[in-house]
Formats: sequence, C-alpha cells, structure tokens
Amino acid sequence: MAQIINGKLISQAIKDEVKQEVEALSGQGIMVTLAVVQVGNDPASTVYVNNKKKACEYTGIRSLSYTFPENAKQEELLSLIQELNSREDVNGILVQLPLPAHMDADSVIEAISPVKDVDGFHPQNVGALCIGKPGFVPCTPAGIIELLKRSGISIAGKECVVIGRSNIVGKPMALLLLRENGTVTIAHSRTEDLKTVAGRADILVAATGRAKMITSEYVKPGAAVIDVGMDRDENNKLCGDVDFDDVSRTAGAITPVPGGVGPMTIAMLMKNCLHAVRMQGKVDPARKKQEG
Ligand code: NDP
Repeated sequence: MAQIINGKLISQAIKDEVKQEVEALSGQGIMVTLAVVQVGNDPASTVYVNNKKKACEYTGIRSLSYTFPENAKQEELLSLIQELNSREDVNGILVQLPLPAHMDADSVIEAISPVKDVDGFHPQNVGALCIGKPGFVPCTPAGIIELLKRSGISIAGKECVVIGRSNIVGKPMALLLLRENGTVTIAHSRTEDLKTVAGRADILVAATGRAKMITSEYVKPGAAVIDVGMDRDENNKLCGDVDFDDVSRTAGAITPVPGGVGPMTIAMLMKNCLHAVRMQGKVDPARKKQEG
C-alpha cells in the first residue's frame, strides 16, 4: 500500500510558518495585505474566495474583499485593479477566475502589477519562471513541489511526467520540476500511447480534469503519484484524476482527493503574500540577510 501524502497536515505546517512570519513582520510595523476580487456569484468561486479569506484570518494576513455583480463592466474592474496597484498598503491582488464571459481574463491578469500578482499568472512572472528569475510561481504547482519535498521524495534526476499542459497547472508544474532538476515530459490529449509515457514516471502528476482516468496501468510500481484533479464521479462525489483505490496498490506514494493537492494551493497563496512583501522591498534588508 502506498504512502499517503497528507496535504492537510503539510498545508497546516506551511500556514503555521506563514503565521509566524506575519507576526514577525507586524512587529516591524508591516501589515501583510491581500486584496481578493470576485466578479459575479459563481458558487464554486464563492467557496474558494471564502476559503482564501479564512486562511488569511488564520495566518494574520489582512484581507480586503471586493465584489462586483456578474454584469459589471470590465473597465470598472480594471479601474479597481489600478487603484489597488498604486496602494502602498496592498501587497497582493487576486482576481478570482473564471471571470464572466464578457470579460477578457488575459487583459485583467495583465493589468495586475507583476509585483502584486500572488497567483503568478502575469506574463512577466510566467516568463521569469521560464528563465529562472525571481517572481511569483502559481500556487498549485508550487504546492506540489512542497508536498514532494516535505514527504522526502527527491526530484533531481527523476523521470517526471506531467499529464496536462494548462497555463495554471501543467506548464508551470513542468517548469518547476525542471528547476528541481527532474527529467520532465509533458503529456496531453494528443500524446500517443499515454500508458507507456506515464508508465516511465518516477513522479507522475495528473492534471487532466478527467475523473479517475489514471488507473494502475499508467503507473510504474513504486512511483509517486500526484493527483491535481478536482472532479466528480458517477455519484457526483468529489474525486481526482487518479483511481485512488486501484493506484494506491501500485504506487509508492499518492495524494488523496480531497486532502492532497487542494489544501496546498491556499497555503502557497499565503506564502506568496509574504513573498510579495519581500518583492516590494518592504522587509528590513538587515533582517532579510539574517534570514538568508
Ligand atoms: P484544463 O482543462 O485547462 O487542462 C487539462 C489538460 O489535460 C489539457 O492540457 C488536456 O490536454 C489534458 N487532457 C485532457 N484529457 C486528457 C486525456 N484524456 N489524456 C491526456 N491528457 C488529457 O485543466 P486545468 O489544468 O485547469 O485543471 C486540471 C485539473 O486540476 C482539473 O480537475 C481542475 O479542477 C484541477 N485543479 C485543481 C486545483 C487544486 O487546487 N487542487 C487547482 C487548479 C486545477 P490538451 O491541452 O491537449 O487539451
């Protein structure tokens, strides 16, 4: 039976670390602040936004909340973003996606100042990740790297296969595994003989959005299997892209759904808020040096 990678415990440890740092910053008179913007009232988005606010409360990060009706004009949203960009007391800006169809998500993301882009979706941060410069890294793949490291799973030199090539999960995941010196393959819906490609992986990341698609036939015995999926099974129950009952008999380590990757995303968002304070040069440099 595979080692179960417990995202709840690991994310809790990260939130506790963030909480301590937030306290230390508050001792220096710095109040870490995240602005959360929601357009419309999509129920899933409301749940995500509320969870982010709860995590802010826990860690001591101040959250500012902005909501627009579904039919708001894009200009109104852009003008709020401009205001938040220029506010000294706001460190991070998060616009909850998806946006209503009449808005252009790319323009909205590009309007956010790259030094406040705690989601790591701005093209400047995407480029920075590609060429190994400092910047914000998207929360879900960053959380997966933490899950692996804190579970004692080494990445360097390992065969890593990421199934999925979206801008928010698959591509940044592959880049992060490469940064950690993994040997990385990206697979997608046009990949031929996916079972053979996936079966080479020491670390297999499934981010397809296809419920329980990854069975043990895709998994090398002993591999670490990371399930990013948040899907619904035939009974409308939350499940992942991986058939957990089947794969946990073959894998060496596996993340469950729920309780695996999901909680890490928010923990890494909190970490990115701290990173924002550093990027904005708000931390006392002497202290920063001490912290290494
Ligand atoms: P997208 O739909 O944007 O991308 C899915 C990717 O999977 C695409 O690249 C697609 O290939 C590939 N794919 C789809 N079907 C197959 C298949 N049969 N074989 C091989 N590849 C396939 O999804 P996201 O990346 O946004 O999300 C992926 C999953 O992760 C979803 O379940 C989502 O809910 C979940 N998620 C979870 C988060 C968390 O915090 N836990 C955060 C974000 C997402 P192609 O490009 O060729 O179409």
